[in-house]
Amino acid sequence: MKESKVKYLIIGAGITGLSFARKAKEDYLILEKEKTIGGYCRTIKKDGFIWDYSGHFYHFKDEKMKKDFIEKIEMENLVFQKKNTKVLYKGKKINYPFQMNIHQLPKKEFIECLYDLYNKKEEDKYKNFLEMLYGKFGKAIVDKFLKPYNEKLYACNLQLLDQNAMGRFFPYANIGEIINNMKENTDKSYNSEFLYPKSGAQSYINAIYEELDKNKIILNTAIIKVNEQENYIETINGEKIYYEYLINTIPFNNFLKLFENIDYHTFSDKLSYNQVLVLNLGFNKNSKHKEHWMYIPDKYINFYRIGFYNNILLKDKLSMYVEIGFPKNVEIDVKKELELTLENLKKLKIIDNHKLESYESIIMNPAYVHINEEHNRKLDEIKKQMKKVNIYSIGRYGGWKYCSMEDCVLEAYALFNEIGKEVIKNES
Ligand SMILES: Cc1cc2nc3c(=O)[nH]c(=O)nc-3n(C[C@H](O)[C@H](O)[C@H](O)COP(=O)(O)OP(=O)(O)OC[C@H]3O[C@@H](n4cnc5c(N)ncnc54)[C@H](O)[C@@H]3O)c2cc1C
Repeated sequence: MKESKVKYLIIGAGITGLSFARKAKEDYLILEKEKTIGGYCRTIKKDGFIWDYSGHFYHFKDEKMKKDFIEKIEMENLVFQKKNTKVLYKGKKINYPFQMNIHQLPKKEFIECLYDLYNKKEEDKYKNFLEMLYGKFGKAIVDKFLKPYNEKLYACNLQLLDQNAMGRFFPYANIGEIINNMKENTDKSYNSEFLYPKSGAQSYINAIYEELDKNKIILNTAIIKVNEQENYIETINGEKIYYEYLINTIPFNNFLKLFENIDYHTFSDKLSYNQVLVLNLGFNKNSKHKEHWMYIPDKYINFYRIGFYNNILLKDKLSMYVEIGFPKNVEIDVKKELELTLENLKKLKIIDNHKLESYESIIMNPAYVHINEEHNRKLDEIKKQMKKVNIYSIGRYGGWKYCSMEDCVLEAYALFNEIGKEVIKNES
């Protein structure tokens, strides 16, 4: 067996792994299972259409990160958009978030929502996500939108999720904000403005890659085993690589299976998540809709969200992504879903006699991890055990959480700084 040694061994060449390498600068090695870099931030270019692995838009809370992004892509290669999104509710478009825009509903439904919002029973702490929704927004808002929409997205009973399952990405609003929004639209959501590269989300990943030493990024090489006692991993190509620090970015459930520890395997099987089938569709002509994306709570429609690249990139042919949620172990019949999707797009009047010119399907598995308190406690415990033997698991899937691309980059940078400090402390 061929053997080698490296200081930082990084598993996965998605945005998290590449960002860690960018900080490490030298003495690192990235091993990537696929034949290309990018992970879930990959872009597909086909028959004149540009599609991502579902819509991947850049929004920033960190000014330094935003500056770096703009410098890397350059202004002329970027589009800057103020979000224009709607909920498609009973054939009518309601501004998103639904809970902030109940005044746009027919009068009877508006009164129902307002009445239940006023009479809701708020608690300090909720047992689960669904309880939190009822407690904060009242029955009508939840039953009309928040429950059916999130059930389609997460593909699970919302009682299985932690009250904070979506963290800062959930559009919370109190009565005062909801009432004020009736007169003046005040969208202050995390992605009210976003940036998007004209060549697709992968442009930023490619720019990071250009900074790195290509010899240190090995593609088509899955890791199949971790030996945490002797600090080495084995690859599918029969190599043994010793490390000082192991930085994992692959989904935590799959990572746990690389160890011999049976406790890890048992926990891995318990972890819950959904899969998302993404259908990227390119049509022969444009549509009348001007939104960037729309939310579909109707339980008789197979998709929960659809997006319009043509409206973001100002193109004249309808170019869409369609997202459909499934439970974790379900076999997805892509052909059936495509047929159903085209039928439903017609039903919702998104398309009429449009001709499908090109399409691509992708299964994101996992897509949204199901966060609950019990699993979080065990996750923290395992991560602490791993840290003791210089193993770190980060990123949206490595960390098993809900976060953005920016969060992944910042976490990778922070981890590099943390390890650096530990090294200095140990050496002095
Ligand atoms: C439907 C959806 C929409 C999203 N939209 C947005 C958005 O608009 N904006 C935003 O900021 N974020 C968005 N996200 C989140 C974003 O996709 C993630 O935060 C980010 O891509 C995570 O990157 P990562 O590098 O941590 O993981 P990944 O991209 O999953 O990278 C992990 C890499 O590890 C590789 N790998 C797997 N197994 C092995 C193995 N055994 N050995 C070696 N390599 C392996 C994989 O091939 C992959 O390249 C969205 C997510 C979803 C599901």
